[in-house]
Amino acid sequence: MKLKIKDVEFSYASTPILKNVCMELQPSEVLGIVGPNGAGKSTLLRCIDRILKPQRGSILLDGQEVKDMSRMEIARRLGYVPQTSTRVFPATVFDTVLMGRRPHLGWRSNEKDVEKVLEILKLLGIMEFALRDFNEISGGQQQKVLIARALAQEAGVLLLDEPTSNLDIKHQLEAMDIIKKLVEETGISAVMAIHDLNLGSRYSDRIIMLNSGSIFDAGSPSSVLNPENIKQVYGVEAVVREEAGRPYIVPMKPIKPNGYEE
Ligand code: ADP
Repeated sequence: MKLKIKDVEFSYASTPILKNVCMELQPSEVLGIVGPNGAGKSTLLRCIDRILKPQRGSILLDGQEVKDMSRMEIARRLGYVPQTSTRVFPATVFDTVLMGRRPHLGWRSNEKDVEKVLEILKLLGIMEFALRDFNEISGGQQQKVLIARALAQEAGVLLLDEPTSNLDIKHQLEAMDIIKKLVEETGISAVMAIHDLNLGSRYSDRIIMLNSGSIFDAGSPSSVLNPENIKQVYGVEAVVREEAGRPYIVPMKPIKPNGYEE
């Protein structure tokens, strides 16, 4: 599925957040969205999933405007993984993931859906939590359950909002490897807002760097994740090394305001 975003602008009340955002996502591609806190990464993902309605611009899935689609049509195409929420309604992990099947079948589930859910629980290594209440598992486990729910949706595009922020390093790599493998093998694509520049570098085919709601730079991880961009956008001096053909960022020190140097 192809995602195309053209001149998107979004404001909360009168505060402009996203300005003239344009991007394209091809099938089998992972697009990483990086940028400092408040840059607009979550807002952009919420606009794509139509949780928020941009005041201007268009968001097209295979040429069709998302704003003209029903919630169900959107859910068949876009699998949104929010940042782990605090409490949600009480439901078991199994039922939470099964809810991902809803866009495909109405309210009743059949054997095939149950099999799909079990397969995904196994894939993400969370089968042992299947009967636990979602609210009573750890933040990291919840994050995996939300990824599992989006995978159960079998949507063409995954929208991942900081999918690894609550995971320890082993689970970060496991979750990202699963997503990357699915993208490569099934032709789905993923847009992922990610804090961790090194995870973004390692798993993204392309990177968009947002700053104050505008695209500051876009391109391959090596072209975008350079010391000058990191300095300008994050206000941090960093050394960029290379690891397995990808940039590896070592943040050194924050830049003092007004050019003050120690
Ligand atoms: P990021 O994901 O890059 O950290 P966000 O998209 O969450 O950034 O936020 C972008 C900006 O929008 C921030 O300045 C934030 O304070 C503001 N913002 C986020 N949610 C709301 C809201 N519900 N109402 C008003 N402003 C908001």
